[in-house]
Amino acid sequence: MSGHLTTVAGVAVDTRHWIGGQRVASAAAFTDHSPIDGSVLGEIARGAAAEADAAVAAATAAFPAWAATPRAERARLLHAIADGVERRLEDLAAVETADNGALLRSHRRGVMPRVAHNFRFFADRLLTLDHEDFDTRGHTNHISWDPAGPCVLITPWNAPLMLATWKVAPALAAGNTVVLKPAEWTPLTASLLADIAAEAGLPAGVLNVVQGLGSEIGDALTSHPDVRRISFTGSVPTAKHIAASAAPQLTPLSLELGGKSPLLVFADADLDLAAALAVEQYDNAGQVCLAATRLLVEESVAEEFTRRFVEKAAQLTQGDPREEATDLGPNIHPRQLEKIDGFVRRAIAAGARAVIGGTRLEGQYYTPTLLTDVAQDSEIVQEEVFGPVLTLQTFRDEAEAVRLANDTRFGLAATLATGSRERAERVTGQLVAGTVWVNCFFVRDLRAPFGGSRHSGVGREGGTWSFDFYCDVKNTVSAPKGWNGHG
Ligand code: NAP
Ligand code: MG
Repeated sequence: MSGHLTTVAGVAVDTRHWIGGQRVASAAAFTDHSPIDGSVLGEIARGAAAEADAAVAAATAAFPAWAATPRAERARLLHAIADGVERRLEDLAAVETADNGALLRSHRRGVMPRVAHNFRFFADRLLTLDHEDFDTRGHTNHISWDPAGPCVLITPWNAPLMLATWKVAPALAAGNTVVLKPAEWTPLTASLLADIAAEAGLPAGVLNVVQGLGSEIGDALTSHPDVRRISFTGSVPTAKHIAASAAPQLTPLSLELGGKSPLLVFADADLDLAAALAVEQYDNAGQVCLAATRLLVEESVAEEFTRRFVEKAAQLTQGDPREEATDLGPNIHPRQLEKIDGFVRRAIAAGARAVIGGTRLEGQYYTPTLLTDVAQDSEIVQEEVFGPVLTLQTFRDEAEAVRLANDTRFGLAATLATGSRERAERVTGQLVAGTVWVNCFFVRDLRAPFGGSRHSGVGREGGTWSFDFYCDVKNTVSAPKGWNGHG
């Protein structure tokens, strides 16, 4: 560590903001730690209102030229960023693992390739973005997507670069300029993205990255009158705060929030598949918004399902996320571990039984946990834990399964294990969820809409839905007559 550079996993990372094509320092700093061993990764620029204003000013100044840049050129630059991500894939994977503790093997093979794909997908989608014209009594209605202006993008720590680029790529493709604020627990890969974008030739001010604590820099970004869109991924309380801050300016918001999603296991399911799907919910040490943390199992197969689940969960290896054999790494922060353990302790005090787990280990690790004997209205069933903690409840029939599944304030996702296509269609139609998986989990196409219902979010992103959000959609109606009043 020296000056404004830190070295993480052998990679040099600039710890300053990136504003208007320049590195900008702050007088204050915050310390970034690794969840693997608690070591200090860097002293990061701690931005406040002045840096927020400077970043929005840079994004505002860069907007007209970027909005006027032909689509093909914008797409070319996004592909160039994707090339840069692919060239630096090993660096990005290693730095992200050091910073947030998620598995190196998934960063290398799944997450960072997806980061590159985020840019390629929206670049290509931009070039095919089109709508048929409508005809009304000879008048042509032509639909177009106009760039909206500077966008503020605020992202969490559980999948930092993947979730950031899921917003950055469509916002840039749409012809908007961006101010990105990553989470304070994972500031590093956003800084590398700024380097990559600059090397790719993205003009100064089109992408800006500000670092800092949300509580200190957030309001200046989300209440700024020049900001035309805010896209946020994170928790419900922060979303409410941001919505209030944006309200006086009526800035349009996209909110991707938390969940308490169910996995419904019917007696007609392949129980090995169902158990495997359930164990998958411990991925990323349970720090996945989409995780199906409530296992709802038909009574007649609950014992057998539990036996197979416990057998599979026992095969998980917990430890250093840089090791190839590790399945479960550390949780993000000591504060988060306390929160997880608090949820489990209170559930047990209220009568829950830990079938497996329930133990805080040395360092920042928590054992994969399954709790039974939990009441539907209890905290552990109703609130998002964001750690490797699942609950198991049983149901007698389909109606009860649907009732339990829908009985939280969330509606992000739902997963079904069933051998019956008719049942899958029937149940899916009754579930409140932005995404439903039937006999599978997590896979999805970027052309599809993504988002949550109820407190799991507002709006949808993905494919055309992203352009609908990031653009001012326009309908131009032309008279049937010729252009000089002649037919
Ligand atoms: P969080 O505490 O809400 O933080 C998310 C982001 O908001 C961070 O960058 C944070 O900055 C910032 N922030 C905090 N206060 C702010 C304020 N007053 N104004 C503006 N920004 C502010 O959420 P988290 O704990 O990082 O993330 C976990 C949550 O995200 C879970 O609920 C999870 O389900 C959800 N999530 C949802 C999705 C989805 O797509 N639906 C995906 C992943 C995660 P600081 O880090 O500096 O506080
Ligand atoms: Mg960190």
